[in-house]
Amino acid sequence: MARERIRVGRRCVLAYHEVQRNASKYRYRVTNQQFDEHLSFISSLTKNSSGERVPEITFDDGHRSNYEEAFPILEQHRLRAVFFVIAGRISTDREFMTWNQTRELVAAGHQVQSHGWAHRLLTRCSENDLRQELLSSKCELEDRLGTEVQAISAPGGRWNDKVAEACAKAGYKQLFHSNPWLQSRNLFGIQLQGRHMVTGGMGQHELKSLLRMSQSQVLLHRTKYRVKEQVRVILGDRLYHKMWIKLAKWKSEEGIEVDVSESGKSERGIQQS
Ligand SMILES: [Zn+2]
Repeated sequence: MARERIRVGRRCVLAYHEVQRNASKYRYRVTNQQFDEHLSFISSLTKNSSGERVPEITFDDGHRSNYEEAFPILEQHRLRAVFFVIAGRISTDREFMTWNQTRELVAAGHQVQSHGWAHRLLTRCSENDLRQELLSSKCELEDRLGTEVQAISAPGGRWNDKVAEACAKAGYKQLFHSNPWLQSRNLFGIQLQGRHMVTGGMGQHELKSLLRMSQSQVLLHRTKYRVKEQVRVILGDRLYHKMWIKLAKWKSEEGIEVDVSESGKSERGIQQS
């Protein structure tokens, strides 16, 4: 008997961070070779007519490697991506892309959207700070790039009803978070969409498994994620981030830190999106 499959049409959105030539123990870095293999697979899906879902490619943080390493590989495969950038960090140091580089991405048909202004956890922002994270980043990107910014990916993947409502008020149409198992839905007129965080250990086989997962497997993952969320609530953001620093094998020179403080004071932790 054929296995029950996820309904065709369900979106599968991948979230990459860094793409580098050399492998790293850091969980959210993929190698050029790995990225190239992913894109070969995704490209093959766009060419056949089996009706299989084609994963959408997104990046978080605006790391310089997005332009220097990932962009040429995307061009080779003629695939397009959405780059969620931290607006306040562009052109600030060697770690991040420059405005000219983001303009080049847009000119090549890619999208550049918001990942906030300063990579703060939106769920811990005051109303004023939340407005700044959402509106300042949107306005700066629109002014600098001359394109409309309609989507935001939440730093750390964190959101709640208050964040969704503020995003809608700021003019966003889509809010991306890091729970891939939550069904896509509309809230306050904004579409909430989960993404799969791509890790250094994910190969073509894992990508295929994601696309061909049965409904019962999705439900199992959904339950596991709910447990993880409960652990986070119990531990609190700071303790949870400390735990993630170990699990993600993060070192201070790798990855982009997320600001987990209530008021923007310097309390930082490993970022997960
Ligand atoms: Zn991030």
